[in-house]
Amino acid sequence: SNIVYVVAPPTIPGDHALLPFTAPEVVLELDKLPAAPCRTQCPECRQFITTETFSSVSSVTWLVCIMTALVGCVAGCCLIPFCMDRFKSTNHRCPKCRTLITTIKKL
Ligand SMILES: [Zn+2]
Repeated sequence: SNIVYVVAPPTIPGDHALLPFTAPEVVLELDKLPAAPCRTQCPECRQFITTETFSSVSSVTWLVCIMTALVGCVAGCCLIPFCMDRFKSTNHRCPKCRTLITTIKKL
């Protein structure tokens, strides 16, 4: 007698929306993408993808930061974190066609 009775858990209709771990929402408005990988539709290849993100800081930003640091050590050190956070931007890229979808600037 190796019969195993499997009791299915009770299902409540329409309960899926209340579960905490649902699939992430697809964001179709590219302006509203968060600064993290996000599901969206690629404007280039029209596929639904999860974006790849990478941060970029322009070389001008670094120059400004270094110059500021050289001018006054105390003031410069205080300004560097502010400077970096202010000018760092997040880029969203399509993993399929490598198109740069959008760039979020923290300005
Ligand atoms: Zn694409």
